[in-house]
Amino acid sequence: MTVRVRFAPSPTGYLHVGGARTSLFNWLFARKHGGAFILRIEDTDVERSSAEMVEGILEALRWLGLDWDEGPYYQSQRLALYREVAHALWKRGYAYPCFCDPAVLEREREVARAQGRPWKYDRRCDRLDRSEQERRVQAGLPYALRFRVPEDVTLRFEDGVHGAVGFALRDVEDFVLLRSDGYPTYQLAVVVDDHDMHVTHVIRGDDHIANTPKQILIYRAMDWPLPAFAHVPLILGPDRSRLSKRHGAVSVLAYRDEGYLPEALRNYLALLGWYPPGGQEILSLDDMVRLFDLRDVNKANPIFDVQKLQWMNAEYIRQLPDDVLLERLRPFLERRGWWSDVQAHPERYRSRVSLLKTRARLLTDFLTMGEAFFTEDYTIDPEASAQRWTDTRLPTLMETLADHLARLTEFTALAIEATVRATAEQASVKPAVLIHAVRVALTGRTVGPGLFELMEVLGQDTVVRRLRRALPQLREMVSKAIRQ
Ligand code: GLU
Repeated sequence: MTVRVRFAPSPTGYLHVGGARTSLFNWLFARKHGGAFILRIEDTDVERSSAEMVEGILEALRWLGLDWDEGPYYQSQRLALYREVAHALWKRGYAYPCFCDPAVLEREREVARAQGRPWKYDRRCDRLDRSEQERRVQAGLPYALRFRVPEDVTLRFEDGVHGAVGFALRDVEDFVLLRSDGYPTYQLAVVVDDHDMHVTHVIRGDDHIANTPKQILIYRAMDWPLPAFAHVPLILGPDRSRLSKRHGAVSVLAYRDEGYLPEALRNYLALLGWYPPGGQEILSLDDMVRLFDLRDVNKANPIFDVQKLQWMNAEYIRQLPDDVLLERLRPFLERRGWWSDVQAHPERYRSRVSLLKTRARLLTDFLTMGEAFFTEDYTIDPEASAQRWTDTRLPTLMETLADHLARLTEFTALAIEATVRATAEQASVKPAVLIHAVRVALTGRTVGPGLFELMEVLGQDTVVRRLRRALPQLREMVSKAIRQ
């Protein structure tokens, strides 16, 4: 048997981390077994679906590197097939036409809900005489097709994650297969497609486990072989409620834009519910494919921990070779207008990002904490200057330092350090005072990578120019500090 799995998003929203994780599990399963990963867009809810959402989903999947072997298939282009199967079910005696107005039924449901009563469709149309049914159909009255759910049966199936599962059908109403407008419901379309596309394993979120009995009823009524089912536990937020916007970003593309690497997000998502043997956490795609097994997916709901994701992202950033890292930063640098200079001097910028790399958790950190590495227009944080530019000896000292540095023949961290310390000591000033002030002048901030390495990678001309440029502002700050 060739494994065939599918990811079947509804384009009524962005691809969120839950969908991405489901997609990843399917993808890993397909790759592990040398099978096919099918992409199917479930766009039968015409009003809520949009082409823009489809595009966003495809973009997010591509960004995550989850390539599909077939599709995307669009359910909206397969309507005839669903109608055909719905009518076959009617003909086989498993379905019946329902002439009830959905709005009327909805009102009945509302009233029952308000009174705290359970409500299920009372099969009034199934009780109509055959001739009456026929008469109404002939008269052109709109009708839906409903599946007649057998009562007092417990439907059992084996779930790849949950084990043996049983549902009492007593509580399941005669569900709609085909609406009066000719559109299929999810229950019908999903079964028709999974059968038609020869899907062998249905791997999806836990939120669909209650749909499975209905779908199994359709398979049985059509005499179709059942796929294997595996329902993976939903991802929760730190407060143990279902992960949602309230917990922060949930859209995959938002993570991209915040500066996460696709390989880091993918690795983190894989661990949401899957416990790879050996307990290793940083896993290459090859490792994941090799190790992935549905049996190691836990029933318990995983909790989305953004701190852990950031830690993992930082690990991945640190592992990137500098030239690859620069390429990854490209879209962010382009947006700021900083890319052309990087492109013109890749050598220079490689050493700069290399220095920032150990401290960055997100790609966007390179733009914030590393602003002064990419542009002369970096901002001097007013708090930083207020804190570090107070000593009255600083303007003279910094000017002297700039002169000394300009004369250095070898601009290395070692030589720079010796110069900075000697300059401070000659004036009987603690080196730390000068060091802190210089950092603010060169980067606008109080923290960052080691100052002398930083100066080396900025280069002699830049350092000297920036120190001299800072002098007027430094003088002003210092005199302000005296007046206070
Ligand atoms: N379109 C459904 C969803 O997005 C797919 C469910 C399934 O995989 O069967 O939830």
